[in-house]
Amino acid sequence: MENLRIPGPTPLPDEVLRAMSKQMINHRGVEFGQILNEVTAKLKQLFQTKGDIFLLTGSGTGGLEAAIVNTLSPGDKVLSVSVGAFGERFAAIAQQFGAEVIPLAFEWGKAADADTVRRALHTEPEVKAVLVTHNETSTGVTNDLASISLVVKEFDKLLLVDAISGLGSINLPVDEWHCDVTVTGSQKGWMAPPGLAMVSISEEAWRAQAKAKMPRFYWDFAKAKSYSERGQTPWTPAITTVFALSVSLEMMLAEGLPNIIARHVRLGKAARDGVESLGLSLFAEESHPSNTVTAVAASDGLDTRKMLKILREEHEVVLAGGQQSLDGKIFRIGHLGWVSEDDIKTVISALKVVLPQAGFRSAS
Ligand SMILES: *Cc1c(COP(=O)(O)O)cnc(C)c1O
Repeated sequence: MENLRIPGPTPLPDEVLRAMSKQMINHRGVEFGQILNEVTAKLKQLFQTKGDIFLLTGSGTGGLEAAIVNTLSPGDKVLSVSVGAFGERFAAIAQQFGAEVIPLAFEWGKAADADTVRRALHTEPEVKAVLVTHNETSTGVTNDLASISLVVKEFDKLLLVDAISGLGSINLPVDEWHCDVTVTGSQKGWMAPPGLAMVSISEEAWRAQAKAKMPRFYWDFAKAKSYSERGQTPWTPAITTVFALSVSLEMMLAEGLPNIIARHVRLGKAARDGVESLGLSLFAEESHPSNTVTAVAASDGLDTRKMLKILREEHEVVLAGGQQSLDGKIFRIGHLGWVSEDDIKTVISALKVVLPQAGFRSAS
């Protein structure tokens, strides 16, 4: 079997695969309503929130668009705290819908600094919302969201969080950290296939929603809420993905959130120690490494495209390259969801064989 080690989609346990072969049911019927209510209740435990949670059919990016259009009006100022490609995407969505985006970009590979966010909010008192990526999948960095959130709430701003590749794997207590809209995607740490964005909405976000004037139809949270009260979604949902999620969330709650978080701490450490033992260096700054994706710098002659090809063709190990300006400069190992330390060992063993074949001249 192929070792799919990219930061989503991820391999799925057999129990989840079986759930995906179930016959279709009426999405306006009683059975679907029960499943939707159960899935939502389980997600609330894993998001650590008492707020509303909706399942939106679409990918994570749809959830980011929903976060923007439901809380903002054209002309609103937003502070975009960005540390990589996904931070830039979040800002681009806000810009496209007419927000005035104030960019606060940090060097790729570095984490955002809360004091710099504080200075930016001092300079720009009119800012309505702050956009932050919790776990930047393009660089393998996890931001210190707790500290950033404290600053954002010191200034009483809305906090919109792209938690797509961290939530359910890396600790993110949504209510405790005052996240107003928090977005994740079913194909990341949730042991489920692509198809759903899951979003949480705080009381403050609902107040913003009532006044927000950005155009929205498919992603309207008010429609999602009125249908969810009847155990439905406004539009035909990705029923198969909901079936899968219902089983994967059951498995996640059986493992327990603290254990899942601890397992990802071990996986992150195993991946980082493993690549360093091969003489490679990490791309992300040492103080803020991600426990769901490890970005590795292509140094000492390493041709990442060649390496990825040999890994895939001869070892059935599928890793990810770099995005945008990082193409050819880094490669990434995904370790989120249904992953064990043995899976990481397999990747490291394959890398050990392939690195010299792909031009890497190790000093060690
Ligand atoms: C994967 C990812 C996205 C994009 O999600 P899609 O489901 O591909 O739309 C956005 N942000 C982050 C941090 C991600 O990891």
